[in-house]
Amino acid sequence: MTATRLAGAGVAAKVLARVAGDAAALRARGVTPTLAVVLVGDDPASHVYVAKKTRTAAECGVGANDIRLPQDTSQAALLALITTLNNDPAVHGILVQLPLPAQIDSHAVIAAIAPSKDVDGLGPVSQGALLSGQRGFVPCTPKGCMALLAETGVPLVGKRAVVLGRSVLVGKPMSMLLTSADLTVTLCHSKTVDLPGEIARADILVAAIGRPEFVQGEWIKPGAIVIDVGVNRLPSKVLVGDVAFAAASARAAFITPVPGGVGPMTIACLMENTVQAATWLAA
Ligand code: NAP
Repeated sequence: MTATRLAGAGVAAKVLARVAGDAAALRARGVTPTLAVVLVGDDPASHVYVAKKTRTAAECGVGANDIRLPQDTSQAALLALITTLNNDPAVHGILVQLPLPAQIDSHAVIAAIAPSKDVDGLGPVSQGALLSGQRGFVPCTPKGCMALLAETGVPLVGKRAVVLGRSVLVGKPMSMLLTSADLTVTLCHSKTVDLPGEIARADILVAAIGRPEFVQGEWIKPGAIVIDVGVNRLPSKVLVGDVAFAAASARAAFITPVPGGVGPMTIACLMENTVQAATWLAA
């Protein structure tokens, strides 16, 4: 079997076309959906991610306030900025790029974002809404993974899914979304005893651990759908995922490439959440 590549760009383009239409409709009502992107410090990868986010915003008619703060910004100063943005009616979504410098407690900062503007979906209210099935913002990366799964056209109800990694950013919300979609979910992590055995039973594998090509091709169940969230830069500068792509492609039915799989979906879903925030706030 040679897996079908699930390229994110095509699916992201569909999402962004819908977002652009919704943004235009809001602008016609006098509301420009606007995302404040807050970047603290000099992390090179964060600069690349923020540039992609603001560029995509411009392309789909979403306003972007690009706010840069120095590496030595205090927690109090950042919290004061969040309060200002929370109270600014022209800002509909707030994204604080992670990681933050060591002197800042990222939990406190994320929790300070007004739930109605938490378009990254990482605050406690958003996460609680996801857990309890209420209206709220779904974290962008898992939301994008669900869209990629839908793109396969494979019925998912009742299937076995393994989520590898239990972060608040990806693994935990991913496991909740799959559970809500009626799959049977196993959430694995660094203390899981028999990872190859767990993965061998998975009709759907979502890998999000940040370990280059950790998941071996022979662990994959033949015909499985593999969503590789990992982004790892090798010493050669080449980007690879958490799954050994070539060997896994020989067994899976569908697989996302790295780069060009989940990444574009994350940004598209951020834009979708921002327009959603503006729609709810304008209602
Ligand atoms: P994270 O917060 O570092 O969490 C990593 C998770 O992986 C933890 O739950 C950890 O287990 C688990 N883990 C680590 N090593 C393991 C091992 N050897 N076996 C089993 N589990 C292991 O990472 P994250 O923020 O979720 O990100 C994961 C990856 O996704 C990274 O490569 C990141 O760059 C990428 N990412 C990509 C996008 C995108 O848009 N493409 C978005 C977000 C993240 P414990 O909990 O037991 O420590």
